[in-house]
Amino acid sequence: MARYNAKESEPKWQAAWNARQSFLTSTDHSRPKCYVLEMFPYPSGRVHMGHVRNYTMGDVIARFRRAQGFNVLHPMGWDAFGLPAENAARDGGINPREWTYANIDAMRAELKSLGLAIDWSREFATCDPDYYKHQQKLFLDFYAGDLVYRHEADVNWDPVDMTVLANEQVIDGKGWRSGAAVERRKLSQWFFRITRYSEELLRALDQLEKWPEKVRLMQKNWIGRSEGLRFAFDLSNLTALDVFTTRPDTLFGASFVALSPDHPLTEELAKTDPKLRDFIAECRRTGTAEAEIETAEKLGYDTGLTASHPFDPDWKLPVMVANFVLMGYGTGAIFGCPAHDQRDWDFATKYRLPILPVVAPEGAADVDVSTEAYVGPGRLVHSRFLDGMDVETAKREVAARLEAAGKGRRTVNYRLRDWLASRQRAWGCPIPMIHCAACGVVPAPESDLPIKLPDDLDFSVKGNPLDAHPTFKHTTCPSCGGEARRDTDTLDTFVDSSWYFARFADPFAADPVNRDAVNYWLPVDQYIGGIEHAILHLLYARFFTRAMHATGWAKIDEPFASLFTQGMVCHETYKGHNGGWIEPAEVEKRGDRAFLKGTDTEVTVGPSEKMSKSKKNVVAPMGMIDAYGADAIRWFMLSDSPPERDVDWSESGAEGCWRFVQRIWRLVSEAEGLPAPGTKVGAASGDALALRQATHRAIAAVTDDLANLRFNRAVAQIYTLANAIQDAPKADAAVRREALETIVLLVGPMMPHLAESCWEALGHATLLVDTKWPDFIAALTQSQTVTIAVQINGKRRSEITIGINADEAAVRSAALAEEGIVRALDGKTPKKVIVVPGRIVNIVA
Ligand SMILES: [Zn+2]
Repeated sequence: MARYNAKESEPKWQAAWNARQSFLTSTDHSRPKCYVLEMFPYPSGRVHMGHVRNYTMGDVIARFRRAQGFNVLHPMGWDAFGLPAENAARDGGINPREWTYANIDAMRAELKSLGLAIDWSREFATCDPDYYKHQQKLFLDFYAGDLVYRHEADVNWDPVDMTVLANEQVIDGKGWRSGAAVERRKLSQWFFRITRYSEELLRALDQLEKWPEKVRLMQKNWIGRSEGLRFAFDLSNLTALDVFTTRPDTLFGASFVALSPDHPLTEELAKTDPKLRDFIAECRRTGTAEAEIETAEKLGYDTGLTASHPFDPDWKLPVMVANFVLMGYGTGAIFGCPAHDQRDWDFATKYRLPILPVVAPEGAADVDVSTEAYVGPGRLVHSRFLDGMDVETAKREVAARLEAAGKGRRTVNYRLRDWLASRQRAWGCPIPMIHCAACGVVPAPESDLPIKLPDDLDFSVKGNPLDAHPTFKHTTCPSCGGEARRDTDTLDTFVDSSWYFARFADPFAADPVNRDAVNYWLPVDQYIGGIEHAILHLLYARFFTRAMHATGWAKIDEPFASLFTQGMVCHETYKGHNGGWIEPAEVEKRGDRAFLKGTDTEVTVGPSEKMSKSKKNVVAPMGMIDAYGADAIRWFMLSDSPPERDVDWSESGAEGCWRFVQRIWRLVSEAEGLPAPGTKVGAASGDALALRQATHRAIAAVTDDLANLRFNRAVAQIYTLANAIQDAPKADAAVRREALETIVLLVGPMMPHLAESCWEALGHATLLVDTKWPDFIAALTQSQTVTIAVQINGKRRSEITIGINADEAAVRSAALAEEGIVRALDGKTPKKVIVVPGRIVNIVA
């Protein structure tokens, strides 16, 4: 029999599935459904190994659930707006639309060569006017529902690219693309009111049991709920200043009061204080990203005002302006307690302010804060009426006293900020709003949607090409009919990805979503993507779903019932003697050493790291598919490590997978004397029984492993079954057919092309993809032994492993003979031994 030829058979089966429309989603909403979705890709133009891993995992689930009889939705689309297209337009003079769609065409072809079970009829790109039209409609609905608003805010401004940057796009204080020092500017921007749902987004995390704990924790921290106290300081200028604190217990350790540079009082004082104006300008030179502000050098300015301590009017604290106080958090003003907050400690040390310890560790009379702040637990000291209290009691006491005096109230504060969603970018979804000098901001009429991007944008201009376009912004006001200006900002691309999963339920709907389809398909049953989206994308999507619920487009709040975050694909790194990175394709391994291909020039082998262009350790999947076939590459992605961990790509590993492909093919194609398909298996014994047991155990285990995304373990089960088949060439022919058909069916979701070829070779006229997932016979899967816990007086002391058919007397004597039990009984005779067969032995001593 000839070797299995992936190059011939893979396109053949892809064409067969396509001809039969095997993966077209059924609109029969009476069937149980399974919506499998991988985070859709940005159309960079090339599929990379990370994509291959992600989409293979989703594909296995989709094929597996489909075989189990679920109505499966497994779509694909493109997260197609964003900067790279604009950069290509600016740097290469290419139309961003053409650039994007050409990339999509290239990537679609590459993805198709992987044999993914995708319903391509539902494909869309977020830059399709037919998609963003509906996004504009949602924006208008959110606006009507007060879920979108316009507000003047401090933003990161890139003075070279002349655009607002998201916090994540500011790296070390510089624009990620231009490298220019980012400035803070006040601009009117559009915000989504995500903070309306702060508490709900936080609480609902507890219900997301099928999400990784790590992701839930990251979101929890991002939302950042803190309970604290809001209270007022009386100032020397006879006004009162509201501050927020989570540590009211440390009030007697206060040594200063600090305002945000953006606090209204700061701005008021700056009107008559030019030095303060300079200071504010200096603070604004850093961006608004919290991490950046946290790590920046602490800067302070003494306003000359003083604040009276709320429990001692004669105690005056200096009022400073400090760069680390954020206007968006709490009230934009704090009191500093340097002894118990490292940030305040740094600030006080720099500006020679007192550092007064007020919390000492349990049992200690004092605490040393001369080298750093003490942030641990303890009891209050040097704090008058609080002395001796623990931290929580002291917090309550201060809050109660200030509340009673009418000076404060307990409040909950969140770190989560409203989502700044407007960008001064041309390759994005236009914001459907109009600015009229007479009427203000007016929504564009729905009949005008989509507000389309012009096709003739000039990317050589400074700033936003949409704003510079000769006609785009000129319109008439829908309210008064006068001359008006369109909003020339576009939406953050995170908006595009916040609801695409709902559109997939019916991408042909005339409305943003088809409510019936959304009610049936959502939530997504299995969402798969990278951990890098743990916060923003997933939080925004959770907000959007709630906002769609509030505006009548959906009935659910949580879009993703189950989330899986897969690990990265890594590769060794190589460096030449000049320190430059070298691509794996140029390297040849000889033993443990590596050389430039065909030479004796040794290269240094570095650690395995995530494949990246900058380290040149990228292996293009298409070359590997060409060499080994898509199935072998899919198998590699599933086999080596647990799916949540990183996997090291290696060509020898891919070769091993290719050999396994050939092995399965040989097992099937060289099997002799098999009865016709559908032959019943009779009673088996000896070799045949062992093979049947191996077969049914494999079905049970692989079914369980795939349902729980333990792909690597499913792979191991299949190897085991392959060995069992190989070891029983003389077993009953019907049993061998059962084993071979089973291994082919189990391999089906993972190596679908090979499985079809094998299915055909086994004499089937139908496609494997239309074949039901195998059931196992429970009696054949049972292990021959069972492990039983042994307790003494209800406490677990040991365990025994014993035949499953062992009777009560045998279990009892095995338990009493167990070494740990003998030792624990120490010669005593048990009063009673209770045996629950197959479960537990409890000894009453
Ligand atoms: Zn008007």
